[in-house]
This record gives sequence, structure tokens and C-alpha cells, in this order.
Amino acid sequence: SDPYKLVSKKWKLDYSDINIGDDLVIGPDTFTMMAGPCSIESEAQIESTVDHLVKNNIPVMRGGVYKPRSSPYSFRGLGMDGLKLFAQYCRERGIKIITEVMMVEQVEEMHDYVDIFQVGARNSQNFNLLDVLGGVDKPVLLKRGMSMTIPELLQSAEYIFSNGNEKIILCERGIRTFENSYRNTMDINAIAILKERSHLPVIADPSHGVGIRKYVDKVAKSAVMAGADGVIMEVHEVPQQAFSDGQQTLDYVQAEQLYKQLRELYQLR
Ligand code: PEP
Ligand code: MN
Repeated sequence: SDPYKLVSKKWKLDYSDINIGDDLVIGPDTFTMMAGPCSIESEAQIESTVDHLVKNNIPVMRGGVYKPRSSPYSFRGLGMDGLKLFAQYCRERGIKIITEVMMVEQVEEMHDYVDIFQVGARNSQNFNLLDVLGGVDKPVLLKRGMSMTIPELLQSAEYIFSNGNEKIILCERGIRTFENSYRNTMDINAIAILKERSHLPVIADPSHGVGIRKYVDKVAKSAVMAGADGVIMEVHEVPQQAFSDGQQTLDYVQAEQLYKQLRELYQLR
């Protein structure tokens, strides 16, 4: 039998609209931007980010509270205390929350504070986590693993879909290749191919996709022209002081310019 079918265009010809709450739709007729820090760091940082997003009409704030770090000595996130603050500020201002869930045990405690569960690159073949998220009534943004093929990404999506949760957003965030002049190789090709093979929306993550601040805008624009339904980007008031991924994070001025350019490009598509 086919390794995946429910997420494929053979199963469903029309592109899927993913409703985030009752006032936001991610899908073929919209372009959705999500922005915020790699990690939630403090109440002041949340407040400043929310102000920035509201000012720029960005509907979703990203920010990790459980961080997958290569070194166990790096900052690993504020956990549930951070998520509760994150949710408090965002709910007050009408901003949706996307944050990474790393293990099955976190799903239940995080559930009420999250609008979109993010599955990170390092967990996108954690099949038990995918099974559990398949039983949840919230959308899931599924990142491509750093050495995952396109069919493998779609099979991971199939785990979630076949367990009953059809609200899945695919995310290209760069893959690991022989090239070492930057952090990851943003697979622009994958965006076009995923849009052809699947009815699910595809979001691009140019921050992790290249990993170097000065190239993020160029990669983001390429992703839009390749057909992405939106972008997720790392933004911080003072990127140099960020607790994680500062080197690939835009400041507010850079971000504002890029939001404007991406909106214009989407109109041209
Ligand atoms: C992140 O979004 O900060 C992150 C850890 O992403 P990825 O799982 O793509 O590395
Ligand atoms: Mn990050």
C-alpha cells in the first residue's frame, strides 16, 4: 500500500484550509507570517515582541519554552512558567501562539496555552509523539527533519492525520548537506514539490533554513516565490542578546522591512 495517502493530493484535490481558532486561516488563499524569538526569555521580552507583532499585523507569535539544544549546558527554556506568561500576553492582544512540544508527557499540560503545536526537526520522526498529536484538537506545525526526505515528511504527517487530526501545517526549515558555509541548506525545491504532492499548507522557516541573519530576507523571499503559504521567522528586540539562535535572528527594523516585502511579493505571485 501507499506509504502515505490521506495527506496526498491523490486523496484530496483541493488545498486544505487550516483554521487556527475562529479568526485565522492558513491555506491556499492567505499568506501567514509567524514571528518571535527562538526562546521565550522573560516577561519584558514577551511584552515587547507582542507590541511589535500587533504593530505589524502579524497574527502568530513563535517562541520556544522547551528547547531542543545540541549541548545540555545551553539554555533549555522556561517551561510551563514561560508558556503561561506567553499565553497571558498573547491572549490579551489577540495574538496566536506557536511553541514546540518535545514529548508526549508535555502535550496535555501545554494544550490549553497553545494555538499551534510545533514539532521540531529533531522530533519529526518521534512516532509516539505524532500519534498523540493525532488525537489533539489543535493544529500541528510539523517541521522537516534535518535528514528527512520529502516522502518521509509526508509519512510523518500521515501519522498525525490518520490518528484523526487533519489540521497539519508542513514546514521546510532546511536540511543538512555537505555544504558548510551556512547552518542548513534551505530546500526551496521541497516547497514546490510538497505543494504538488500534498493538500496541506507549507510554511517556510528561513531563519533555521540558512542560519545567518544577513541572508534570511533573501531566503524568505525565495520561499514565497516557490509557493510557501507563509513564513515563520526568528525576531528579537536585541538579537545579539538572545538566549538562542541570535545569529539568525532579525531585529524589529529588519523584520518590519521584510514583512512588507513578503506581503508585496505574495501579491505578485
Ligand atoms: C526552533 O524553531 O527554534 C527550532 C528549534 O527549530 P528546528 O526544530 O527546525 O531546529
Ligand atoms: Mn531557533
